Formats: sequence, C-alpha cells, structure tokens
Amino acid sequence: VLSARRVRKQFGALVALDDVDLDVAEGSVVAIIGPSGSGKSTLARCIHQLERIDAGAIYLDGELLGFEHKSGKLLPLRDRDLSRQRAQMGMVFQQFNLFSHYTILENLIEGPTRVLGVPRKEAEEKARALLARVRLSDKVDAYPRHLSGGQQQRAAIARALANEPRLMLFDEPTSALDPELVGEVLEVMQDLAAGGMTMVIVTHEMSFARDVADRIVFMEAGRIVKEGTPKEIFGAPPESRLGRFLATSG
Ligand code: ATP
Ligand code: MG
Repeated sequence: VLSARRVRKQFGALVALDDVDLDVAEGSVVAIIGPSGSGKSTLARCIHQLERIDAGAIYLDGELLGFEHKSGKLLPLRDRDLSRQRAQMGMVFQQFNLFSHYTILENLIEGPTRVLGVPRKEAEEKARALLARVRLSDKVDAYPRHLSGGQQQRAAIARALANEPRLMLFDEPTSALDPELVGEVLEVMQDLAAGGMTMVIVTHEMSFARDVADRIVFMEAGRIVKEGTPKEIFGAPPESRLGRFLATSG
C-alpha cells in the first residue's frame, strides 16, 4: 500500500529524516518506535503530506505523493490534488484535533461532504455507523469539550475513518491520555487492525506494539536503525542501541 524510498527531510541544518525506506503491506500494522527527536512524527507527517520531503519519494498504491511529473520536471502538487491524496490517509494525533465548534457527528461529516463530495445523508448514516463502532453512539450530538480524552480520541479515529482511508496513521494517540483512558483507545485500534486496516503507528506503548504490530521499525537520529517482527525486535541484545532503548521504555 505504502512505500517510502530514500526519504530525506531537513529543518534548516537539522536532518530529521535521513534516507528512510519504509514499506507497509496491505492489511499490515507497522509500529514505529524510537527515542524523542528520532524523526518518528516527521516521518508520519511526511507520509501524510503535512511536510514536503526534500528528497526521495513516497508512493500510496503506486501513486507518487505530493509531486507530479510535468514536462520533464518534478513539481509540487496543487492544493486540490494534495487534498485528494491526503484524504486517502487518516491521521490521528496525540492531541485530539477535533473541530471544537462542531458536534461529534458534524466532525465526521465534514471531510466526506466537503472533500469527497459525498451527499450529506449518506455521510451522516456512515458517521453514525462509525460512531457505533467506536462505542460513541450516545455522543453523536455532543461537542468535543463534553467528552473525555479517551472519547475524543475515539471520535478522532472515527473521523479519520469517515474518509474510507487506504491507510491509517497514528502519532502517539494515547500519550496525552490519563492512564485509565489508554486502554479504550488501544482497544479500538486493535479492532481496526483485526478488521484488516493498514496502519502505521508511532507509539511508546511497547506491549501494544508487541501484540498488534506485524513489524516494528526502530528509529534513531532520523534513520531506521532496525526493523523486524515483534519477536526479532524484542529479542534484541540488551547491549545494542535497540536493546538499551527497550530497557528504558518498559
Ligand atoms: P518525540 O518522541 O519526542 O515525539 P519524534 O521522534 O517524533 O520525537 P520529530 O518530532 O520527528 O521526533 O523530530 C525530529 C527532529 O526534527 C527533532 O530534532 C525536532 O526538533 C526536529 N523538528 C521537527 N519538526 C520541526 C520543525 N517544524 N521545525 C524544526 N525542527 C523540527
Ligand atoms: Mg513525535
């Protein structure tokens, strides 16, 4: 579904992503782990086209993201085409990012009706079904501020799903939550994974990564240092960089 080739991203002199290669197969779950500042969020943001990469290429189902070839040159995509590409990916952030002046239902309808041109009635039916799936049927007409953090995050996941994305991206979706609310969000994500959704998850939740991910990618200083199955990753020698990282990450 997704492939990133030699992706490079700099902020001034700082190299945030240094020749990153990543492949995410249809229906698979890839967890990205690594120390603070290693480039995990930057990679997720580059995939979602929130940041423009400086070199390399990212493809979604074979389509080049963010750029187009035009009369022999590689040019940045226009906003309209970029929005269309971005709508094929759902992203959930650490902060819940719901539109605060919209009800939960309106939050879910906005994308499909405005970006994808889905008729309102159809979008609404779909939104209600998605909210049932994340167990928020009783909050359809509530405003985000009236929901707990866990409920807001489940609503944010439902909103991302409303566009029927090819791929879901999560950037530490449980890091801002009170500990007792983490489980309900991870449960929704686990359901999604079990349903065959293709997912890329930046997370500090090591046991979740171990249980749910098909592959785990360890980043350090803008590079992918190691990747493998949970078994391979958690079997890293304790004296390796990965081993030391795991030892300090619970
Ligand atoms: P964390 O675990 O703390 O979320 P991370 O692995 O997500 O860390 P990134 O946020 O991707 O790390 O940051 C990678 C590097 O790029 C860091 O050194 C960071 O300071 C820098 N960086 C990220 N975004 C920007 C930006 N918009 N402008 C300048 N530097 C940035
Ligand atoms: Mg981050």
